[in-house]
Amino acid sequence: MTNCWICGNIADSAEHKFKASDLKKSLGKKINGFYISRNIIEINSYKDKVLKFPKVICINCNNNLTRSHDDAYDKFVEFCLENHEEILISRNINFEKIYGENWELEKLNLYRYYAKHAGCKIITANPKTDLKNLSEFIKGNTQVFDFILQFELKAGVKSIMNAFNLSIKYNHLYNS
Ligand SMILES: [Zn+2]
Repeated sequence: MTNCWICGNIADSAEHKFKASDLKKSLGKKINGFYISRNIIEINSYKDKVLKFPKVICINCNNNLTRSHDDAYDKFVEFCLENHEEILISRNINFEKIYGENWELEKLNLYRYYAKHAGCKIITANPKTDLKNLSEFIKGNTQVFDFILQFELKAGVKSIMNAFNLSIKYNHLYNS
């Protein structure tokens, strides 16, 4: 049994590598897609194990502690999808436009969502990694000095989408 890397309790929850809401938005209600990692795996269910990290956090951290972080992420994604072309041209993300007057806190919460996601990925790859600073950030610290977040335009992914996805029916979610 593993302990939750955020709070230390028993880890009994599996964080999604891709949020189910993102998958549904990108691939429709009935999923028929491929998970491409070392191998190419066909996926037919949003509950497929391959779409989740192993259980490295607890239900309380995943559902309660980080709910506002997940919400901030959902708002962010919704804005990015709606303003996709404009963002690609301007290469600028205006958080006040996304979140309104509470944008500074909401932006931190968005970063905390990414911190949870990154921490799950890191601890899965190397269970001995010290993620104390990352967990303190998730639990409320406003700064973390060993976690760097960078928004990146993946031009290669966009080219593939343009070349092979002319009907714009399917989406490509990238996790790195
Ligand atoms: Zn926990």
